[in-house]
Amino acid sequence: MSKISLWSLLPEELDAQLIQAGYKKFRSQQILLWLYKQNARSFTAMTNLDKKSRDELDNLYSLYLPEVAEEQVSQDGTRKFLLQLQDANYIEMVLIPGIEKLTLCISSQVGCSRGCQFCATSRLGLTRNLNTDEIIGQIIKAGQLTAPQKITNIVFMGMGEPLDNLDTVIKSINILQHERTLAFSPRRVTVSTCGIVPGILKLADTGVKMKLAVSLNAALDEKREILMPVNQRYPLAQLKPALLYFSRRSPHRITFEYVLIKNFNMAKEDMKALRAFTGDISSKINIIPWNPVPGSSWQAPSAEEVAAFQQELYKTSNVAVTLRNSRGQDISAACGMLAGKKKKEEQKI
Ligand code: SAH
Repeated sequence: MSKISLWSLLPEELDAQLIQAGYKKFRSQQILLWLYKQNARSFTAMTNLDKKSRDELDNLYSLYLPEVAEEQVSQDGTRKFLLQLQDANYIEMVLIPGIEKLTLCISSQVGCSRGCQFCATSRLGLTRNLNTDEIIGQIIKAGQLTAPQKITNIVFMGMGEPLDNLDTVIKSINILQHERTLAFSPRRVTVSTCGIVPGILKLADTGVKMKLAVSLNAALDEKREILMPVNQRYPLAQLKPALLYFSRRSPHRITFEYVLIKNFNMAKEDMKALRAFTGDISSKINIIPWNPVPGSSWQAPSAEEVAAFQQELYKTSNVAVTLRNSRGQDISAACGMLAGKKKKEEQKI
């Protein structure tokens, strides 16, 4: 029987399992403190448990964390990690330092099935969803790598579509926000989606506390469906009411991500559609100059074109507009440049 990962359990689940196994309730709290506060990475380190319990727990539970296979550091301080999972699949995770901020960008899937035309991850296709312990594992691993500095923000903007792995993502958020684990602030967790309507509705209904970001990238169906096949399934007319529904149930503004692609989504009509789509939603627009992906025929806008678009949008839109500085571009760690690696065996072939 394979071991259960301790990183996959809510505190209440650990309580229940340990009581079932004949332990006193306070043991579970001791273990959680070891895991989340005292950075223990093996049962041997848990010195307030007797040897017999430690051995028994070691037989039942795993504390495995993804391993760093490669690290790249950008000139701007962004660090990209290639992580190897237990089954030898790879994912990427990025640490982005900011002013009084340290943002961790994590993956939710190995690859992605959504096929966005401008994104490097989409070329991989989907290998599989990550498990809860692999999502929490990225956060714990990153915490080890940055200690004593603490991660202040977590964004589900790495590889994968979080809403295609929604139950696992929700459980992971519930674990990391739990007061007996990291007590991570809900305001500092952002889930970014390409616009999966049922997933957005479910997020609203489950009431999980987090901020929502939506990769809009075009506000005209005929353009959005070229960029993002998901738009054929969930066109803007379905996306909009889902976002309004979410918005009514969330205290936070929704962030619209809008990747700027030269000669494609930066014309007057595009901006007009963008204003119309976002104007009546409590939101802000984050514009992101497209980061070139090798072999792609899309073109990145010049700095002047980006500035002109930003200024015009800022003047004419009634929602806030921000520009996402491209971080870690020199190491392909910027938005949409995460392409991981294939499984080891496949690489050998
Ligand atoms: N699947 C989710 C999470 C990935 S987030 C989503 O689509 O939101 C990745 C973000 O980077 C998205 O906002 C996407 O629009 C953006 N992006 C993808 N490829 C990009 C590229 N080459 N340059 C700039 N931004 C890109």
